[in-house]
Amino acid sequence: MSEGKIRIAFYWMASCGGCEEAQVDAVSDEPSLINILDIVFWPVAVDFKKEDVEKLPDKSVDVALINGGVRLSEHVEMARLLRRKAKIVIAYGACASWGGVPGLANLYSREEILSRVYSEVPTVYERDRKPMVKYVAEEGVELELPEFLPILLPLNAVIEVDYYIPGCPPTPETTLNALKMLLSGKIPPKGSVIGASQRALCDECPLNATKPEKILVKKISRIYNTRIDPGKCLLAQGIPCLGPSTRGGCTALCPKAAMPCIGCYGPLETHIDYGGKVISFLASIIDSKDEREIARIIEEGLPDPAGLVYKFTLPASRLRLNLMKWGGRSV
Ligand code: SF4
Ligand code: SF4
Ligand code: SF4
Repeated sequence: MSEGKIRIAFYWMASCGGCEEAQVDAVSDEPSLINILDIVFWPVAVDFKKEDVEKLPDKSVDVALINGGVRLSEHVEMARLLRRKAKIVIAYGACASWGGVPGLANLYSREEILSRVYSEVPTVYERDRKPMVKYVAEEGVELELPEFLPILLPLNAVIEVDYYIPGCPPTPETTLNALKMLLSGKIPPKGSVIGASQRALCDECPLNATKPEKILVKKISRIYNTRIDPGKCLLAQGIPCLGPSTRGGCTALCPKAAMPCIGCYGPLETHIDYGGKVISFLASIIDSKDEREIARIIEEGLPDPAGLVYKFTLPASRLRLNLMKWGGRSV
């Protein structure tokens, strides 16, 4: 860190922009940070170019905060460049950490996605159009689009990641906790999740006191077809709240608003596969031993199992779906 300032780079890949908003929110909550952050790259807000980063000496950036998943060849290139320039690289948010919601696209091939977007959605009126790879602008400038990769990857599939800040997006508190930890010099082991809790979300949920030791339900309900009691553990009401297998740190924002946790803080350190863990605890609450009844409960209550259990973590899952679709090609 130079002259007491942190030289920091921000970059977004396949991202919704929410993580950028979250970073602004964090600084708004702690405006004194402005005085110590020396921003060297932030494409969403400042007109830095790739060449500006290339000119920086290697390891001259203290921290690079990268959000979004790796979906384009440009993301691979920029992630590798920032890895070279930064001492510490942090995967910021669910998409960079495990693929996030855009990672659910890995359930489909690249061809299926392009066909859907360019030909099938009802709002497309020129159905024979194909994505343009090269384009010559009016001024005669030749533009080339980056390659749309066969699957979306988490950041650690293309570069070494030092730390992870979870959430979709991380709360300002989580972001500030992480930055303060780094500023304090108390550097955790590489690969750690920082800024969040080491315990399950249920442990910080105010409804935990109403959670029975053993939950058994005959029906799994959705929030749109049930009357929710906001003062009672949602899982005990048969609503698939993923608090038992999700890392805490957001102060249980969703259950506090009578909404089930959908798992955006991802797995605990001890969990090998987030979705596998969720399937395991959901299976344990179904009050039946009859196969047909179990199948009916699942069919009626969990119409989109992959979307529920892997909403944020499919590209990082042990299912290796990503590798199958990737077909062994390396980036
Ligand atoms: S983690 Fe969530 S908020 Fe951040 S880029 Fe991904 S979808 Fe957006
Ligand atoms: S509402 Fe969800 S997070 Fe809260 S105690 Fe119940 S299962 Fe856990
Ligand atoms: S309650 Fe769950 S889904 Fe909601 S913000 Fe927290 S971790 Fe994310």
